[in-house]
Amino acid sequence: MNEYVDLLAIAAHRDDVELTCGGTLAKAANAGHRVGIIDLTQGEMGTRGDAATRAAEAARAARTLGVTIRLNAAMRDAHLENTEASRTQLVELVRRTKPRVVILPFPVGRHPDHRVASELGRDACYLAGLAKYEPGTGGEAHRPFKLLFALAYREDPVKPTFVVDISDVFETKMQAIRCYGSQFDGAKAAGEVFPTGQDLYELIRLQSAHYGSLIRRPYGEPFYTAETQQVDDVLQLGVQSI
Ligand SMILES: [Zn+2]
Repeated sequence: MNEYVDLLAIAAHRDDVELTCGGTLAKAANAGHRVGIIDLTQGEMGTRGDAATRAAEAARAARTLGVTIRLNAAMRDAHLENTEASRTQLVELVRRTKPRVVILPFPVGRHPDHRVASELGRDACYLAGLAKYEPGTGGEAHRPFKLLFALAYREDPVKPTFVVDISDVFETKMQAIRCYGSQFDGAKAAGEVFPTGQDLYELIRLQSAHYGSLIRRPYGEPFYTAETQQVDDVLQLGVQSI
């Protein structure tokens, strides 16, 4: 069986994609699309839990979300770099999985790895489409059609281009996040989620409810695209204005 996917999420650390776009991944899997995840590091620098524990947790979370394939690039946690070597390695993984749509971290972030992962992911997606770029690397050239930047928890003055309604899969998202017990049980913050004193799981629910409210739905996940979205029939547009 090949490793091709329709939708691929790339992020720095195990648990990043569950936090920012787990609902969107579960929803796509439920709809019958093949979904993949590439974690760039093994999370060995995390304060809690070791890499082996996090590997087992990540595998459980992937099963929970209905993800077909989860790969790990084993780059250095907290030392992520956008270099010739890391680009070539990620180009190989993009060519192996041949996604049509890729979800990347937002280019601005609290953790340096998140910012680097965004740029590295974008560059690798472009370079993977150049036939003469490392032609021996993991199969034929492939350039993903669309890049989505996950905007969850960001406070930058960037309006989401769209919000995915994750109301029907919100409990699945939470179940996937709860797979990371070594990281999150009793935690008050994670990744780009700043502490407010509340339980982390409650914080994620509140944030998801906020994004849902932007599209008048219970729960949502926000995304940004650099390009403008096309509309064919304005009568089909959702989200009430007034
Ligand atoms: Zn992270």
